[in-house]
Amino acid sequence: MGTLFSIKLYTSSAARAESAFRKAHARIAELDALLSDYRADSELNQLPRQAGRPVKVSPDLYTILATSQRLAEETDGAFDITLGPAIRLWREARRDHRLPDPAALREAASHIGYRKLHLDAVHGTVTLDDPGMRLDLGAIAKGYAADAALAVLADLGIRRALVAASGDLAFGDPPPGQRGWRIGLDSPAAVLTLAHAAVSTSGDAEQHVEIEGRRYSHIIDPATLMGLTRPITVTVRARRGIDADSLATAVSVLGGERGLALIEGHRGVAARIVTDRAIESAGWR
Ligand code: FAD
Ligand code: MG
Repeated sequence: MGTLFSIKLYTSSAARAESAFRKAHARIAELDALLSDYRADSELNQLPRQAGRPVKVSPDLYTILATSQRLAEETDGAFDITLGPAIRLWREARRDHRLPDPAALREAASHIGYRKLHLDAVHGTVTLDDPGMRLDLGAIAKGYAADAALAVLADLGIRRALVAASGDLAFGDPPPGQRGWRIGLDSPAAVLTLAHAAVSTSGDAEQHVEIEGRRYSHIIDPATLMGLTRPITVTVRARRGIDADSLATAVSVLGGERGLALIEGHRGVAARIVTDRAIESAGWR
């Protein structure tokens, strides 16, 4: 998934640990094959080729699309997995250090919009309106993969574990004798102690591009199809990685006030939103 997954776990023997690591990483590799927009043969990338008719998809992909669409509805499209055509132009912009061509962005815009993606919960099918659509799960699937890897370990009876996919982490039971897994945040510094939870941080710290003196994030505002330029770092704590990951990106697009309102509307979710100041949701402390 273009990032490093690390797993920490406690179990009775090195042999059991070895086998558990292998099974958890195999599950992550299986999800990469289904969900990657980087792989031409992924299940995700077959969908536009079958545009115009309902396509039965795997339970993993259906779960992610359904969660994505609910969040798109809730944020009036601020979170939108159909942004793929614009995201590809921004990946070229990051490589070539020049802004995407406005005409190319306008063309991309004609293939973007979460309302062009239809789900049928009864038959587990997805229908894309337009073969020019490209889906991008970069803001949600790593959190889901961390949850899935943790579930593989729990099925093996290993509950004291954490799975980290760069900024997306999911936690099971705490290490022996501890209250939780201690996770450090920076700017401003904070330490979280977490168990049976997930935490995701979204921002432009790692992925941005500086063009003509302006810094553009890899997070795109669907209203303009431009990378975010105002500095914002969002950390979300939730029960599941799929929610922490996707909400952190959604709040990055919505900004402080509207982002805080989104978080407060999600029971058991808390967030810290750092712009020129740090705003904490009610449940953060
Ligand atoms: P987040 O804030 O969690 O998400 C930002 C990402 O979401 C952006 O990079 C973009 O992809 C997308 N996005 C931007 N704006 C929006 C928006 N408004 N709404 C919804 N989504 C938006 N990277 C590689 O370099 N090589 C690979 O082979 C590769 N394979 C991948 C396979 C999978 C299954 C996934 C999920 C991702 C893959 N990636 C790959 C991308 C990489 O892993 C990260 O997803 C990416 O860097 C963003 O993760 P993040 O947590 O930093 O950002
Ligand atoms: Mg994320």
